[in-house]
Amino acid sequence: MSPSFPEYACAYAKRLAAHSKAFARQVEFSKAELADDGCGSDPFGEAGRARRCWGLKQRFPDRVLVMTSDRCFVNCRHCTRRGLLESAQVVRTDEQLRACVDYVKAHPKVRDVLLSGGDILTLADREVMRFVDAFASLPQVEVVRVCTRAVSVNPSRITAKLARMLGRSKKVWVNTQFNCADEVTEEARKAAALLTDAGVPVSCQTVLLKGVNDSAAKMLALLRRLSAARIRPYYVFQCDPVAGTGHFRVPLSKAKEIERFCAERIGGLAMPRFVADIPGARRKIPIDML
Ligand code: SF4
Repeated sequence: MSPSFPEYACAYAKRLAAHSKAFARQVEFSKAELADDGCGSDPFGEAGRARRCWGLKQRFPDRVLVMTSDRCFVNCRHCTRRGLLESAQVVRTDEQLRACVDYVKAHPKVRDVLLSGGDILTLADREVMRFVDAFASLPQVEVVRVCTRAVSVNPSRITAKLARMLGRSKKVWVNTQFNCADEVTEEARKAAALLTDAGVPVSCQTVLLKGVNDSAAKMLALLRRLSAARIRPYYVFQCDPVAGTGHFRVPLSKAKEIERFCAERIGGLAMPRFVADIPGARRKIPIDML
């Protein structure tokens, strides 16, 4: 049985859902979520990994993930952390943040810090920059990833002021998520332009979702629109094996067909890697190896 995961969408996302079935499917509750698909709520053991340092998770030697918020602008029905957000260990106090920074300093191989959640941009600018500056100021940290779906689901959150602040350290990349071409609206394009013009590269992770983007033509349309908006598509993920998401999963054979179709029609810059996150694996696995 799926863990409870309330339906939530901010005002912009509700308007988008009213006009796009593909987007609505991502944010509106479906009874199919209640089917027992044999999956657990934490296939990657994230809850256990957080025990070493409150709010910090490490799966790979060169990267850490810091939980900055337990809220999002939308509760994506396909979310990997849908069963974990309510009880997530979130870094809130200065002491907790200092402990995360100390952890990174004590692990000199770490060069890449993901500020995630939840969605970090649900925090006020001052709070966002508290996290960004704490890690960007460490000489060993070369990349700070601000992981947010705001670009696609609440683009007015990206202001010129925020973009300028994020660009200051020259270490910040914004990682976002778009799953269908309908999401690449004029507002989303403007938000992405504010970031890229401020020197903050914008990259996109897409989740392959049945009923949303599981056709070659739909995926191609999305990738073309993203690259036209200077948003670099870099991963298309197989939907993770998380309880409550079975109805979104696309067969591997279909995923490979979509990948082949797109690769034959677009250049490398707009062509993401199609991968799967496999519990226990030390890297994302390209689907053509599966
Ligand atoms: S924005 Fe990201 S973390 Fe939040 S619900 Fe969607 S997929 Fe999950």
